[in-house]
Amino acid sequence: MKDMPGLVQLFKQNGYRITPQRQHIFKILQSHSAHPSAEEIYREAVRDMSSLSLQTVYRTLGELVDLGELDSLDLGTGMLRYDPNVKVPHHHLVCRSCGRVDDLYVDMGQLILPDEFKQGFQVDSSEVVFRGICKDCLDDRSGGSYQPTANLHHPRGSTHKPVVKKNTPTKKKRR
Ligand SMILES: [Zn+2]
Ligand SMILES: [Zn+2]
Repeated sequence: MKDMPGLVQLFKQNGYRITPQRQHIFKILQSHSAHPSAEEIYREAVRDMSSLSLQTVYRTLGELVDLGELDSLDLGTGMLRYDPNVKVPHHHLVCRSCGRVDDLYVDMGQLILPDEFKQGFQVDSSEVVFRGICKDCLDDRSGGSYQPTANLHHPRGSTHKPVVKKNTPTKKKRR
């Protein structure tokens, strides 16, 4: 994504009006690396500019995508995610649990689809999406507050007295 003067110039060249609202959205996007959704951008933007509407956010995002300054990504997280990092080709890591999206600068070699597999398509882009569980979600699962169905039959404390271990010594002394 271009810097602020670059974006202002680009918008003017294409006949779009430059409003304080639009510039505010530009500023938020330029500092964002978390691939926010339109709603997230709106929530962030409206904090400092209460006159902003969600509709303006959607329209501005659409214009930036049309002008090639923003990527919209459907990564299966339930909503479109926006990526201002359009200059450097990269892939993505997607968390199935919280929907977090991280940039991934790993060289996967050239992703070339051999002609016999193209089925008549003219392919113009390709990317790799790695899915899994992010570190924060994993940490939550192993020791944090998130313990699905745990301790239903074992109230806290009882898990430290496994029945099997108690019986092992007597079983061994059977002579
Ligand atoms: Zn996660
Ligand atoms: Zn990205």
